[in-house]
Amino acid sequence: MGPSRIGEARVEYVSSREILTRASGFMDAYDFTLNPYSGCFFGCTYCYAAFFSHSAADRDDWGRWVKVKENATELMAARRPGSLDGKLIYMSSVTDPYQPIEREVKLTRQLLEIMAERHKPKLVIQTRSPDVTRDCDLFRLIEEKGGRVRVNMTVTTDDEDVRRAFEPYCPSNDARLRAIAEAQSDGVDACITMTPLLLVSGPPAFANDLAATGVKKFIIQPFHFKRGKFIATTREKALDLMAEKLGCDRTLVIDRYLEHYEGVRSILADGLPELSEGKDGFKPPF
Ligand code: SF4
Repeated sequence: MGPSRIGEARVEYVSSREILTRASGFMDAYDFTLNPYSGCFFGCTYCYAAFFSHSAADRDDWGRWVKVKENATELMAARRPGSLDGKLIYMSSVTDPYQPIEREVKLTRQLLEIMAERHKPKLVIQTRSPDVTRDCDLFRLIEEKGGRVRVNMTVTTDDEDVRRAFEPYCPSNDARLRAIAEAQSDGVDACITMTPLLLVSGPPAFANDLAATGVKKFIIQPFHFKRGKFIATTREKALDLMAEKLGCDRTLVIDRYLEHYEGVRSILADGLPELSEGKDGFKPPF
């Protein structure tokens, strides 16, 4: 057991039936998704994972609760050694494996340790947290033993006002860029995912900052206005800010945003080594 609260978020400890889930939908090119937690303290206002909450209360309270799958390591350890060799695993699809509770309970790290010892998985790690660099030793170990690891860091804007409105509890853009640059220079296969791309205040400088990380692969995807519509409070404020920054009223925000997205995409496509878009970008990289 670990803490029962992290800041404003309540933490519960639950028993799970399985730790690996057969991948489907957007992730159907993978064999499994791996979610050490349910719920996510980062509380992004656009998070589609909120829709998979068990209750309307949990959905509306998204970002203020986390459930730790306390039997996750037992479930992983019970798998036959080698049974995940070559299996494509996406960690994580409905939570962030490096959200703040991970510092306390180290569940993601323990799962990686078991996989490094017993399997050769092909693993894609998806996070918004600089804490991912803590586990670079394990990413390298998995590769040395014949598995593969790609780390995707999500960076959605260069504007801290926008980041605070849409990703209220996430680490800053700069911290994320520094972390993925560190992972890249530490020999980890790294990628930056702008998924979704929010508003960018200085596209050429943003392209330079992204390129300066040394990362060679980038994925971009537009913001979906319909997703996340039930996370009411902060989302409304975020959309007001978007309209204000785009210089329009809320009725025009979708059209103006799509023009903005196209403009930024074309600058990034010119300034970055490899930029892929949408579901295509999320194809397994191995
Ligand atoms: S970090 Fe990912 S899982 Fe967590 S709230 Fe944001 S989008 Fe959702």
